Amino acid sequence: MGVDLHTHTTASDGSDSPAELVSAASGLGLSAVAVTDHDTTEGLAEAETAASRAGIELVKGLELSLEWGPGAMHLLILLIEDLDFLLSRLGRVREGRVRRNLEMAERLRSQGMDVTMEEVRAGGGSGAIGRPHFASLLVRKGYAPDIPAAFDLYLARGRPAYVERFRLGPAEAIAAAHAAGGAAVLAHPLTLGVEGGRLSAVLEELSEQGLDGMEAYYGAYDPPTRRSLFELARRHGLVPSGGSDYHGRFKPDVKLGIGRGDLVVPDEALAELRAAVSARRSLKPPHRS
Ligand code: AMP
Ligand code: ZN
Ligand code: FE
Ligand code: FE
Repeated sequence: MGVDLHTHTTASDGSDSPAELVSAASGLGLSAVAVTDHDTTEGLAEAETAASRAGIELVKGLELSLEWGPGAMHLLILLIEDLDFLLSRLGRVREGRVRRNLEMAERLRSQGMDVTMEEVRAGGGSGAIGRPHFASLLVRKGYAPDIPAAFDLYLARGRPAYVERFRLGPAEAIAAAHAAGGAAVLAHPLTLGVEGGRLSAVLEELSEQGLDGMEAYYGAYDPPTRRSLFELARRHGLVPSGGSDYHGRFKPDVKLGIGRGDLVVPDEALAELRAAVSARRSLKPPHRS
């Protein structure tokens, strides 16, 4: 049993197709798996078909990078009800990614690297192309020894090929999640770049904006960190959620369902998120917010 509420497929920067990922999750004995590709819901139809075949529940999701100062704030939208509506809200974000990618390829070329957008795309799937695809190409062409090094040398924020892209702010993104009938969950809270009292203050503000949950059971965190994030979530009235953030070969040290080997995300995490969504829907149906 157990669930995994954070995974990536070939619809963004994972290397397993949605059907492969869902079958693997079922093979692990998970009761549910969320597919949460960056900025896209393109993998969900295939994942849904595979899930009903394999007898596992699919949680429809998506991950967004938000506009936020110190570090990286990522939001998972889980249990999405209205995919088309959500995509229409994300038009500017999705266009911004395409434009940013073209500019990053240009930056790499202007630094003497022989890379084209066609080559970057050839290493990806059908959907959202992102920096891991650039990293993978830089490795294939010998410009970097591995994916983390490609980020450190060129692609990470502040590095020479990094280009900003349009992002939603936290309040707008949470509102979009709710309007699409879903739950808003803060991903990997330790990348926010704030700790202690400042982290609490940020969580307080996000809660006021309607945040439903935050990841405590995160693949890359050790058990004591997961426990302290669990307590922190409870103190703020947030559902402790979690998942592996599996990306296949783009993050080879993280495995589906079990992260680095010791992750267990209990079924209650999903049950509590579902309860939060149902409570809101009974107050206000999706769409009309
Ligand atoms: P993008 O959405 O195109 O900006 O790319 C974001 C993806 O890049 C996320 O899934 C991260 O897993 C990955 N990423 C961001 N920073 C790093 C880094 N320093 N090293 C490795 N992967 C990273
Ligand atoms: Zn990713
Ligand atoms: Fe993330
Ligand atoms: Fe992720």
